[in-house]
Amino acid sequence: MCGIVGAVSTSNIVPVLVQGLQRLEYRGYDSAGIAVVDGTLSVFKQQGKVGELAQSLSGGPPAGTLGIGHTRWATHGHPNDENAHPHLSADGSFALVHNGIIENYGAIRERLIRKGYEFRSQTDTEALVHLIDDVRDVTGLTLAESIRLALTQVVGTYGIAVVSGDNPDRLIAARKGSPLILGVGDGEYFLGSDAAPIIEYTRQVVYLNDGEMIVVDR
Ligand code: GLU
Repeated sequence: MCGIVGAVSTSNIVPVLVQGLQRLEYRGYDSAGIAVVDGTLSVFKQQGKVGELAQSLSGGPPAGTLGIGHTRWATHGHPNDENAHPHLSADGSFALVHNGIIENYGAIRERLIRKGYEFRSQTDTEALVHLIDDVRDVTGLTLAESIRLALTQVVGTYGIAVVSGDNPDRLIAARKGSPLILGVGDGEYFLGSDAAPIIEYTRQVVYLNDGEMIVVDR
């Protein structure tokens, strides 16, 4: 179980995400990535250190006021670029980061492959991404409601954070068995799997309880 960071702000959150991931490095990890919403949703992820990710962003750094980041400690699948988080939905409309283990990912994966979903990674996490997509497709529910429903079908542990290119003002997160903290700033919000990435921005924090979900609107 490794690190999650997230932010909704009025200014560019990419430095917040990168510094947040650096503050989570003490936990150990094998890969790192961020998803940034700026009109469109962009994902940057790779095996290796957060510093290397930051360097590869330095050519043309993305900018956005909504985003999530992750340091991965592989439990399912090799430590490589494809298995690094965030994971994108098939249509590229939303990105998800996950700490923990989806124990019934095999059954979910098989069912969704039969329905035509193509898996790009070996992770348990990607099964949850496509499950959310499938729930949304079948029910016509909003993304937040689809996440809520999909999580009722999941066995295992998770802290997740999700952003969507379709809604540049909304950060969604949920937890079960994996910690998540919401930091409440002045017109901005921060998410962390522990306090390390958010403590420099705000001392007002909300510790999510197991089974809770948050939908943060700008
Ligand atoms: N089970 C997920 C994976 O292997 C998440 C691992 C983590 O908590 O970093 O990708």
